[in-house]
Amino acid sequence: MQRRAVLFLLACIPFFTACAIIPISKSSPPPAPVTLKRAQFLMGTLVEITAVAPSDAIAQASLTASFQEIRRLENLLSTWIETSELYRVNQAAGLKPVGVSAETFDLLRRALEVAEYTEGGFNIAIGPAVRLWNIPEAPRIPSAMELDIAAQYVDYRRIRLDAARRTVFLEKSGMRIDIGGIGKGFAAEKAAAVMREIGATGGLVAVAGDFRVFGRRADGTAWPIGIQHPREPGKILATLDATDEAVSTSGDYERYFMQDGVRYHHILDPKTLQPARLCQSVTIIAPDATTADALATGVFVMGPVRGLALAERLGLGAVIVDAGGGISISSHARNRVKLFP
Ligand code: AMP
Ligand code: MG
Repeated sequence: MQRRAVLFLLACIPFFTACAIIPISKSSPPPAPVTLKRAQFLMGTLVEITAVAPSDAIAQASLTASFQEIRRLENLLSTWIETSELYRVNQAAGLKPVGVSAETFDLLRRALEVAEYTEGGFNIAIGPAVRLWNIPEAPRIPSAMELDIAAQYVDYRRIRLDAARRTVFLEKSGMRIDIGGIGKGFAAEKAAAVMREIGATGGLVAVAGDFRVFGRRADGTAWPIGIQHPREPGKILATLDATDEAVSTSGDYERYFMQDGVRYHHILDPKTLQPARLCQSVTIIAPDATTADALATGVFVMGPVRGLALAERLGLGAVIVDAGGGISISSHARNRVKLFP
């Protein structure tokens, strides 16, 4: 009986083998992923998006949709567009709370959270001072008196968020929200999510110095990200390979003017309302681009010592170039970041 069963099984082997082989030999190999890249000028800067997808149609659709998403967010959030929610919030400063969308509310909530982490280094109430410096449009050094006046309006604790009513109230007339330090990362985060929804398997969204990557490149490798050297234009300071995370850099070389040998740049220290002086550049590696963008700006203001301590506390990657050009790297980034000679 047992022998019969063994014989029966042996007799079946060619059949099972055929079953196992036939479908494989008949099906064609999976299509090679398609990689497409497009660039557009949005949010006042160059936005470059790369999509990896199973087909050309999906890659095209995910690129179109992600650019549309960034345009939509620009219209929702830009403090310069008169129909935007944040424009209305700024207009109503000192007057009344303004109802906003869940997205705008979420962005402001995140911004105030980072303000707390960075001990006020990151501060979206900085608007009146940003306006005075007006870098790079018509840069000039504001007078001490102008800065003293602006200082009365840059307290982020006077931005009142009411979660139940989903409203924002700037308590003092003259206050002005500026989301320049967090908006690009927020947009990159949302654009990447839209690409994934449409079916892209990998992607890179680069909004100026704010990168969000997901999945892998067509050849299966991670996304190489270069960190710009803050004093040698076009030179790479360091590189790292990224997957499913964000890398944001804030630098004093991005928007600045020189006067009497002094560099005046666009990241302001909320305590002095002068350009922050402790760093040349800060790169933050974080799971999401909103956090990476806001923290890069905030850590830039905090400086290398307190900034590095914060990155360690939050368990995030940080590459900080201090005012003298010295480089510190947080323990989470140390094994990943390759410095260039
Ligand atoms: P980023 O390039 O992300 O570092 O953002 C710089 C932009 O953020 C500036 O152009 C201002 O619009 C705004 N900003 C300047 N100083 C601060 C600050 N201390 N906190 C938050 N935003 C700031
Ligand atoms: Mg930023």
